[in-house]
This record gives sequence, C-alpha cells and structure tokens, in this order.
Amino acid sequence: MTKDARLVGYPPGLVTEYRRAGLWGTRTIADEFHAVARAHPDRPAVIALDGRLTYRELDERTDRLAAALAARGLAPGDPVLFQVTNRLATVVAWYGVLKAGLVPVCTLAAHRGHEIGEISRRVGAVGHLVEQDLVEFAREQRAGHPTLRELFVLDELAELEHGVDPAVARRTVDAIQADLDPDGIAVFQLSGGTTGVPKVIPRLHAEYWYNAAEYARSWGWTPQTRVAHLIPIIHNAGIVCAVHAPHSAGACLVLGTADLDVSLPLLARERATHVLLGHGHFRAIAHPAFDAAAESIDQVVLSGAKVPPELFADLERRGVWSGQLFGMGEGMFLTTRPGAPRLARATTVGTPLSSHDEIRILEPGTEDEVPDGEVGELVCRGPYTLRGYFDAPEHNARAFTSDGFYRTGDLAAIRLIDGERHVSIEGRIKDLINRGGEKVNAEEVEQLLLRHPRVRGAAAVPMPDPRLGERTCAYLVVDGPQLTLSEVQEHFAALGVAKFKWPERLEHVPEIPRTPVGKTDKKRLAADIADKVEQERLQRAGAC
Ligand code: AMP
Repeated sequence: MTKDARLVGYPPGLVTEYRRAGLWGTRTIADEFHAVARAHPDRPAVIALDGRLTYRELDERTDRLAAALAARGLAPGDPVLFQVTNRLATVVAWYGVLKAGLVPVCTLAAHRGHEIGEISRRVGAVGHLVEQDLVEFAREQRAGHPTLRELFVLDELAELEHGVDPAVARRTVDAIQADLDPDGIAVFQLSGGTTGVPKVIPRLHAEYWYNAAEYARSWGWTPQTRVAHLIPIIHNAGIVCAVHAPHSAGACLVLGTADLDVSLPLLARERATHVLLGHGHFRAIAHPAFDAAAESIDQVVLSGAKVPPELFADLERRGVWSGQLFGMGEGMFLTTRPGAPRLARATTVGTPLSSHDEIRILEPGTEDEVPDGEVGELVCRGPYTLRGYFDAPEHNARAFTSDGFYRTGDLAAIRLIDGERHVSIEGRIKDLINRGGEKVNAEEVEQLLLRHPRVRGAAAVPMPDPRLGERTCAYLVVDGPQLTLSEVQEHFAALGVAKFKWPERLEHVPEIPRTPVGKTDKKRLAADIADKVEQERLQRAGAC
C-alpha cells in the first residue's frame, strides 16, 4: 500500500529502533486484539450497563461485523466517523471497524455540523456511525458531501452481523489485515489543544497499541484486572486506557457513563479494580455510592487537571490508593505508577510512560531548556507521540521543535522527588478552555462570535467552575444594546456548533483590553472573571 503523503511518519531509523527494543509490534490493532482474545476466550472482555461479552463473543461478533462492512463495499483505509456513547455496541463497532481495515474517526456525539463538516472533509470520511438521535443530523451531513456515503446507526449494527458465517468472516478479516501496514494509520483522533479548527491526529497501529500495552504494564494489570471507565470511551484516554489497554492484557473493561447513580453501583457489582477519573468526575468521591464502588478498587487514577490536595487526602483517608495521569491525543503519557512516592502521587503527574520517551521543559517560544524546578513549556518526543498532524504542514511547522519534539502548550516543571525527575503541570500557554475534559478552542469561539452581525470584538476565556473546572465566558464589544446569553447561544446553534463550546456567560465591555504588543489581554480578562465568580460565591455564602 502506498504511504499517504498527508501523514508525517516516524523517522525510519527510530522505527527500527522501537522494534529492536521490543516496543512496537508487527501486527495491526485488530490482529493484536484477536491474539489476546484467543488466549483468553472465556474471560469477560467488556461489562457495560447494557450487556456483557466474553473475549470469544467479542472476537466473533466483530469478525462478522467486519465481514458485513466489507460486503457493503467499504474498503480498507476508508474513514468512519464515530458519534456514539458509552455502550456495549460501541466496543463492538470499534473492533469491527478496525477489523474491516477502516479507520475510526474519533469525533464526539456532541459535535454538530460546524465540526463534523470540517473534520469529515479533511479526512475524506466515507462512513458515519451515529446514535439513533443523530440520524437526521447524519443525513443532512451527507448532502453535498464529496465522500460520505454510508450511514450506520449503532443500534442497527447487530443486524448486519446476522447470517454472516463465522469461519468465512474470520478468513475475510485475515485477508484484510494481512494487507495492512502496521505503521499505517489505524485511527484518527482529534486534537483539543491547537489553534483554529480541530487538528487531526493520525494514530498508527503499532505505536497506538504500544501506547496502550505499555499503560497496562505500567499499572501491573493482569487478566484479573477490571478497568472501569466513566468518561466517553471515544476520547483518546478512553480508547487507550479503557479499551486497548485492558484488552492488551486479557483484562476486562467495566463500562459506565457520566451518570454516577447507575455507574458507581455497576463498579461495585462487577468488582472493578481500577478507575480513571477525569476532572468532571472528581466529584464522584462525594457520591453516596462511591465507598461501595471503592471496596474492590485498588487504583484510582486522577487526570485532566491539577489534583486538589483535599481530594488526594480524602481518598487516602478512605484507604484508597490514588495516582495521576497526564495524557493527550497527540501521544505523550506521564503517570505516577505503583511504587511512586506519596509526594509524587499527590503533587505531580509522574514520569513518562516509556523508557524511550524524551521530555524537555523549554522557555516558551524558544528551544532553550529551563533549569529543573522552573516553569516552562513541556515538549516531548517518543515512540507513541505524533510527528505531525494529518494534512497540516503549516501548523506542523509551528507545533514541533526543529528536532521533532511536540510542543504541548502545557506549562510544567521538573520536581526532583527521591532522586527522580517527576513532572508537575503548572498551567498552559495554549488558548483553550478545559470544560470538564472537553477542550474548547478560544480562537474558534471568538471567530464564531464575530460572525454575529452586532459583535465587533470578542474574547473567550476560562471561567472557574466548581463542577467542570472551567466554562467559557465571552467578553464582547457590541453595536447597539447588550446581547443576551440566549441570543448568543441561538447564534451558535444556528451555526451548528457543538453545545459544549457555547459561551455560558457574557461580559460586555467598551473595548477588548490589549497587551503592550497589541494582543488580546487574556490574562487580565481571565483574572477579571475569576474575581467576579469568587465575589459572587462569597456573596452567596454570606447570604446563606
Ligand atoms: P486531550 O488530548 O483532549 O486528552 O487533552 C490533553 C490536554 O489535557 C493536555 O495537553 C493538558 O492540557 C490537559 N491534561 C491532561 N491531563 C492533565 C493533567 N493530569 N493535569 C493537567 N492537565 C492535563
């Protein structure tokens, strides 16, 4: 198969090195999964709120689905947009699509025409997999689209599998996989952290599986491990930490949802041993069903934002071990693994996952390293960190250092703890709002605001929020009377923008403040809204 010119590959010398070191395998993701399924056929592979499957069942069903997809005329390499939620059928769809040689595109159920239109055209999506409530939307997306021709509804996928002979399906999958390149594109993830429209991250079979397998190894997982997940599994953290990682070890995914009332009892009932809590779920610890769920859990991993000391202490008081994860769709993972010093687990995101990962902390905007202990931009390079966004040469020229380190846009510092260099995250320079783990690109929101006929100036900044961490506040300069929040939200709805990007508070100003070099003074605006929110909180507390 010819290499796609839009893909920036890993340098060939490093590919050889990663294979020689035993990091990268030579199989595709579908073949890796099949090998594990054959080794643990009767063990549970997924337990979800709406059903369960053993490895044998999941392997056979996904073979049949793959054969059915191939029979529909979908060809290896064809991208398929995923707009689905945390259900058993999503896991079946994931491996079924991979087994057919198709490329899942990890869009979100919350995305709308603004996002799907852009992403689907960039990757040349051929299929669109949706939940029932998005069927009409998916039909609209197909109209006038140059490549998008197949619409699949998650609940109807099982019908496709019916009547497909398992042995024939296996032979079909074998034939498809034999022709795939393990260093070719397996999955498209989306970046949350760059400027402008979301960038597409190509994840390759060998490196993506390695990322997950190394993650499972780092936590010491075995086939007895039960990995619970509440965050959308289609996020990079979901696919790596909750789908591929347990499945690389013959372990089980216990698949919950954001609904803690039903998901925490599932964790308790199914004796989950490990759970990843994103920032939006830090509040799970205060839920009445948490203690019962925590009885079987020996690893709670906190991720997505700085861990409040009270949260760490609370877990410790309850006898629950917790660690931290820093991860990104672009690759790099840092973790505080078992055995990490308490101080490291409480105050840092730990150390890189792979022995071949390289990190540096640079003076922002330069390639100069800052001394240990000082804050700078985290940059990284390694066996599962991208070498370039898909089809984005101009952006790539800015997003990497001259020697191929990815500029994360996160601020970090090295902390020496027990003689080892741990990383603490100290903020970010990239201009985004982290809404409970969903990244909102400030520049994108501003461009959308400026499309309103009465908006003359706009700045989007993070506003502190006790539940989600941050929400979007828009500072506006308008012609005529002030705009109401609902007028602005209607404008976003009319443009087909995903709801999590809609501003949730407006502040009208006579002009947008500028820094001495003429840039929007985001620091000042963010401090202003943080101050206002705090004053309002104190007033409410005083009123009680
Ligand atoms: P995503 O690619 O959507 O997973 O987002 C990755 C980004 O989330 C990182 O670049 C950070 O800005 C943020 N992030 C992830 N983990 C952490 C963490 N443990 N602490 C602080 N920020 C984090």
